[in-house]
Amino acid sequence: MLVDTHAHLWWDSYKGDLEEVLARARKAGVEKIICPGTSVTTSKQAIELAKKYPGMIYAAAGIHPEEVLDSKSQMLELSELIKENKKQITAVGEIGIDLNTEELREKLPEQRELFRAQCELAMNNNLPVIIHTRQSLRETFEVLDQLPKIPRGVFHCFSHDEEGVKEVLSRGFYISFGGNITWSKRVARLVEMIPRERLLLETDSPLLVPRDQKGVPIGGSERNEPANVRILAQIIAERRDVDLAELARQTTNNAEQLFGIS
Ligand SMILES: [Zn+2]
Repeated sequence: MLVDTHAHLWWDSYKGDLEEVLARARKAGVEKIICPGTSVTTSKQAIELAKKYPGMIYAAAGIHPEEVLDSKSQMLELSELIKENKKQITAVGEIGIDLNTEELREKLPEQRELFRAQCELAMNNNLPVIIHTRQSLRETFEVLDQLPKIPRGVFHCFSHDEEGVKEVLSRGFYISFGGNITWSKRVARLVEMIPRERLLLETDSPLLVPRDQKGVPIGGSERNEPANVRILAQIIAERRDVDLAELARQTTNNAEQLFGIS
């Protein structure tokens, strides 16, 4: 069994054929999927999917850093949503800091505050966090290190360097990689550095589709989907010199423990 710990299945592009997407996932051995929101609205959609597909789809509720560009605060609503849907919600996410554009850099103070508040919300509800970072690893650690206690969780779609891996591990977090390991040799090398008990699998669907050396999507479609976690698992198993079954067992175990979905 494989677990895709990050797939945004509420995305518009799945509206027409989600049943087929889930059937292909099952066929590829992907039996559980964590579906994170990026706002209150999409977190609600993730919860609806978890209700519709219990035992397969699990929700995470959170406000993505890019949402700071939308001036109205969603914190109160998010905390209500988590209180009301304890059964479906397995994490607070995705949350974090993103400094990829000038517009986002200008909002760093707001991003820090939003991230900090959501980490506290996670801890108050005894939930792990799913952390998104882009050119913001240092700022993310600064917020985490000022908390009374560092939450448990995962740095998803990791794309930083070796030093960054060490820093993340030293704070007790899990790490997962997306399709970027298929086109970035630099990121692919980091896969070998992660202790087996800290590694998770994910696709970040519908984004980051795995590609071959010519840039063609390996799964055949430009839209990523949870079944493709198998492609990534194979690549990761090869790089770590373990067989796929062993990697599947370990990463499934890790996901079940972190998100409480066993
Ligand atoms: Zn995501």
